[in-house]
Amino acid sequence: MNSVLQCLSNTRALHDYILREEYTADINTTTSAMKGALIKAFGALMCDLWKRSDEPDRVLTTAPFKSQIQRFAPRFMGYQQQDAQEFLRYLLEGLHEDVNRVTSRPKPITTDIDDSLSASQKSMEAWKRFLRLENSKFVDLFVGQLKSTLRCTVCGHASVTFDPFWDLSLPIPSRSGQVRLQACFDLFTKEEVLDGDEKPTCSKCQKRQKCTKSFSIQKFPRILVVHLKRFSPQERFRGKLNTTVDFSVNGLDLSPYSAGQTPCRYNLYGVANHSGTLFSGHYTAYCRHPYTAEWYEYNDSRVHVMNQRNVNSGEAYVLFFELAGSTHV
Ligand SMILES: [Zn+2]
Repeated sequence: MNSVLQCLSNTRALHDYILREEYTADINTTTSAMKGALIKAFGALMCDLWKRSDEPDRVLTTAPFKSQIQRFAPRFMGYQQQDAQEFLRYLLEGLHEDVNRVTSRPKPITTDIDDSLSASQKSMEAWKRFLRLENSKFVDLFVGQLKSTLRCTVCGHASVTFDPFWDLSLPIPSRSGQVRLQACFDLFTKEEVLDGDEKPTCSKCQKRQKCTKSFSIQKFPRILVVHLKRFSPQERFRGKLNTTVDFSVNGLDLSPYSAGQTPCRYNLYGVANHSGTLFSGHYTAYCRHPYTAEWYEYNDSRVHVMNQRNVNSGEAYVLFFELAGSTHV
């Protein structure tokens, strides 16, 4: 939990939103299950954290926040090891709900998006439909849009769909050794053949056909969270993937995976590391200070300044990137 909280607290746009108390005007007291209690507890925790950020051995008072997150997601009861990415998903979802600008549920749209629209029109329509229900500072910052293309190998017809994402879960192409982060993106966006039992129905042929399926990124979020699948279900029996995933701290260029024209260079500012095994692991975080740009290592209650050279330790599990140039937007 702490590694994720440290990465979030060093997210500059979020830091400002919380510490300047802008969020208080956005609290959703109607459709949110928590009626603002979660974001208030998160805000108090962030303030405590930053107020004491110059104390070398600060110990955070996480109990009030913990009790709220457990009310929202009872599965986080207790103090056993939790999966950092799973925790992050629940936390972002809960915080988003607490400041969702949609304060009364609109009537659901039951019609499909018109298939005759161009891909970019479809993407905009899908995004508009998403925002009708989910619209908050957290959506502004963290949510992107994924394009998936299903192409019939018989008639060539392509059916395109667009889905929002809060993070990208990337497969790791090797069980050991070292791979580049780009190799994980390559594998994630690689065309997959759906044949045999998996054959989808082609809307043009009106029957099940062999198809290819591929992903690309339609809309790049301002904050991109990348989760490395070290514990995927198929790996669960074989243990954790200890592959070193090599990444550079600045200037990650994701344009090869882009479906549109949006800017897509990212700088890293946070890493949740996992060391050890699936059952007895330990989380630490490396974060770049949002104002001084200095890197810090957070290990339980201990905080140390660290060299940027050491950020790429081989134990990265969840990576936090910020769109280059977005800090001053
Ligand atoms: Zn077809």
